Amino acid sequence: MENAINWSELSFGYMKTDYNVRCYYRNGQWGELEVSSSEIINIHMSATCLHYGQEAFEGLKAFRGKDGKIRVFRMDENAKRLQSSARGIMMAGFPLAKFEEAVSKAIRLNERFIPPYGSGASLYIRPLLIGLGALIGVKPSDEYLFLVFVTPVGPYFKTGFKPAPVCIMRAYDRAAPQGTGTYKVGGNYAASLAAGNKAHEKGYVAVLYLDPKEKLYLDECGPANFFAIRDNTYITPASNSILPSITNMSLTQLAAAMGLKVERRPIPVSELATFEETAECGTAAVITPISQIDDLDENRSYVYSEDGKPGPICEKLYHKLFAIQTGDAPDPYGWVKIIE
Ligand SMILES: *Cc1c(COP(=O)(O)O)cnc(C)c1O
Repeated sequence: MENAINWSELSFGYMKTDYNVRCYYRNGQWGELEVSSSEIINIHMSATCLHYGQEAFEGLKAFRGKDGKIRVFRMDENAKRLQSSARGIMMAGFPLAKFEEAVSKAIRLNERFIPPYGSGASLYIRPLLIGLGALIGVKPSDEYLFLVFVTPVGPYFKTGFKPAPVCIMRAYDRAAPQGTGTYKVGGNYAASLAAGNKAHEKGYVAVLYLDPKEKLYLDECGPANFFAIRDNTYITPASNSILPSITNMSLTQLAAAMGLKVERRPIPVSELATFEETAECGTAAVITPISQIDDLDENRSYVYSEDGKPGPICEKLYHKLFAIQTGDAPDPYGWVKIIE
């Protein structure tokens, strides 16, 4: 038996687990799910994923509940989004039922890595889809690999649920106006690394990107969506260059159920001064409240938290969603699937 895992020391990083689940697309069809204990994939040096960016991925989490059951959050939505990403960059779509089967299998096979209830930690699940065909001409591959691996991750907020600063820098875009921003593809992440690094060097946790066409509206924060609260209203951007976050979709439903109005519309940068709370949202952290937004081009700061505490609506939404994910609260929406 290997050393026991110290659940309270886990970071948001990669840890080797026992198995991953793989499936190959060849001759126009998907094969059977295969279980592997290797962390290595053996692919052709001319594969389209390496040269032309035929790569899409997903991210979701499983939790151990107080009742000992394993719950996975909205994996049907991740399955659908991976199909959308696949269509967006001309890859073979992975069947929805097979996606759920592969994810469930990867969780079950690595059950000993699911952090215990109450640790704040969870099992992060990373499905990916890559083009394998050995091509030099620019065209879609005719062979693909779908793979899902898991890794236990610590609570995103080591020091508690705390607001963090983000910045606006108009010199960078994450995605083009009619580009691949709505797909969860590696290329968007490569495109955001330079801006992300610069923001981190300056002490910000993320860049809040503006719409790439006019730079007049708010888009999203690198790997997380953006929302704001004002006058009992949950406001989140509508845009052709942002990723449809499943966390954001869930929060809008919870907000509506809590009696908030919900608006999904273009948000002019000028509205930043009017918000009571702002936040990032995504699977990794659920919600990261924003303490302040520094517009580095206009030399303006918008402050949302001066005392280091999150706003009341962010706090309420965060606890509500997390309670549903872990099974502490009932799940009237059918978001959670129990892995037997
Ligand atoms: C994955 C991702 C998000 C968050 O989506 P969730 O489904 O909530 O995890 C937001 N923006 C981008 C660009 C992403 O890739």
